[in-house]
Amino acid sequence: MNSDFDELLQFDKKHIWHPYTSMSNPTAVLPVASAKGVTLTLADGYELIDGMSSWWSALHGYNHPQLNQALIDQSQKMSHVMFGGLTHEPAILLAKKLITITSDNLQHVFFSDSGSVAVEVAIKMSLQYWFAQGRTQKTKLLTVNKGYFGDTFGGMAVCDPVNGMHQMFSGVLAQHIFAEAPASIEKGAWKDEYIDDFKRKLSANHQNIAAVIIEPMVQNAGGLRFYHAEYLQAVRQLCDEYNVLLILDEIATGFGRTGTLFAYEQANIEADILCVGKALTGGYMTLAATLTSPKVVTGIETDGKGVLMHGPTFMANPLACSVANASIDLLLSSPWQLRVNSIEQQLNAELEQCKSLKCVKDVRVKGAIGVVELHQAIDIEWSQKQFTKAGVWLRPFGRLVYVMPPFIIKPYQLTTITDAIFCVLQKLTPKY
Ligand SMILES: *Cc1c(COP(=O)(O)O)cnc(C)c1O
Repeated sequence: MNSDFDELLQFDKKHIWHPYTSMSNPTAVLPVASAKGVTLTLADGYELIDGMSSWWSALHGYNHPQLNQALIDQSQKMSHVMFGGLTHEPAILLAKKLITITSDNLQHVFFSDSGSVAVEVAIKMSLQYWFAQGRTQKTKLLTVNKGYFGDTFGGMAVCDPVNGMHQMFSGVLAQHIFAEAPASIEKGAWKDEYIDDFKRKLSANHQNIAAVIIEPMVQNAGGLRFYHAEYLQAVRQLCDEYNVLLILDEIATGFGRTGTLFAYEQANIEADILCVGKALTGGYMTLAATLTSPKVVTGIETDGKGVLMHGPTFMANPLACSVANASIDLLLSSPWQLRVNSIEQQLNAELEQCKSLKCVKDVRVKGAIGVVELHQAIDIEWSQKQFTKAGVWLRPFGRLVYVMPPFIIKPYQLTTITDAIFCVLQKLTPKY
C-alpha cells in the first residue's frame, strides 16, 4: 500500500467511527478504491470477490452501466429538490412501480432516507391509525424475539430484547411485547403449537396493541433464521381476528433475495404496512419506502385532519429515486428468479461439506442466502484476515458465517467463496 494511503488509514483509525465499533480500540478496516461487477479492488490493487452485496443491497453488482447512467442523467436535471410542496417524475414513477410490484391493497407510498426511518414511519402510521379513531390505549407493538428493525429508537425497541440494545437504553426505550421467536425450519415440519406463544401474547394484550411488526420468512440481522410460511399465515389471521395492524419489514428480504420478489408472497398474505429499503436502489444510494393501504389512510383520517407527521429533508431524493427505478427495471427484465434458484442450488451443494466440521452447528440456505452457523462465536478480525487472504469479502457476525452475493455472481466466483468458507472453518475446527 502506498504511504499516502497509510496516512489516510491512520486518520480513519483515529477519527472515524465504523459500525458497532469503539473509537479507542477499532477493528481493522480495508480501504476500497473501486468496485465493479462482484469485485472489490483495494487501494493496493488486491481484489476480493464480494459475498456480502454490501449488506443485502448490491443486487446487480457494482458500477453497473445502466445504474451509473440513471444517476448521470438525473444529476444533469436536478440532484435534489425539497418534497414539501414540490414533486418530480422520478418519485412518481418509483411510487407507481412499488405499487405495481407489491400486493394489490398497498396503494400509498411514503419515501424516506433509510430502512430505520421507514420502520419509524411504519410505527407512526400504526399509532396514528388508532389515535385518530380514539383508541388511545393502543400504543404497544407485538413482535417476536430475534428480530432486527434498525438502530433508531423506535426500531431498536422491537429488536431482540437480549441481543439488541435494550439493556444499554432500557430507561429510554418504549416497552413492547415479545413472543418467542418463530421455530426455525431446521426443526422440521410445521406444527400448530409453534404459534401458541404469539397467540397467547396477542389475546392477552390486544386492547393495547397497535400493530404486529415482523420480518417475513427470514429473521435477518437478528440471527439469519428461516421460518415456516404457516407461521406468517397464522400471524396474519390472528391480526385480523384481534383487530391489530400487521407491519412487514421487507428491508432485507425484498427484491428477490429469498427466491420470490417479496418474501411475504411465500405465505400468500398481505401487509397493512410494508417497509422496503436496502436493495431498493441496487445498493447505490440510501433510500427506503413505507407502503400502506386505503384502510390505514382512512383510519388516520378519522380525526378529520389525516396528517401523517413525518417529513425528512431528503425525502424522495431524485437521484436515489432515479437509480431505484433503473434498478427495479433491470431486476425485472433479468432472469433473476433463475439466478437466485441456481445460487440456492449451488450454495446447498457446496456448503454441505461444512456440516462435516466439528465447529459447525448448522448449514442452511434460502434463495441467495447461505448460512453456516457455528457452535461458538467466530473471531471477526481473525476470520476477516483469513477470508481476505482467500480473495473473498465476507464479514461474519457472532456465530454466523454467511454469504449473500450479488445475483450476477458467476458459478466459479461463488465456488471461490464457498471454498474459502470451508477452508477457514476447517482451520477453526481443531480449536474445539
Ligand atoms: C437493515 C435493516 C433495517 C434498517 O435499515 P437501515 O437502512 O440500516 O437503517 C431495518 N430492518 C431490517 C429487516 C433490516 O435488515
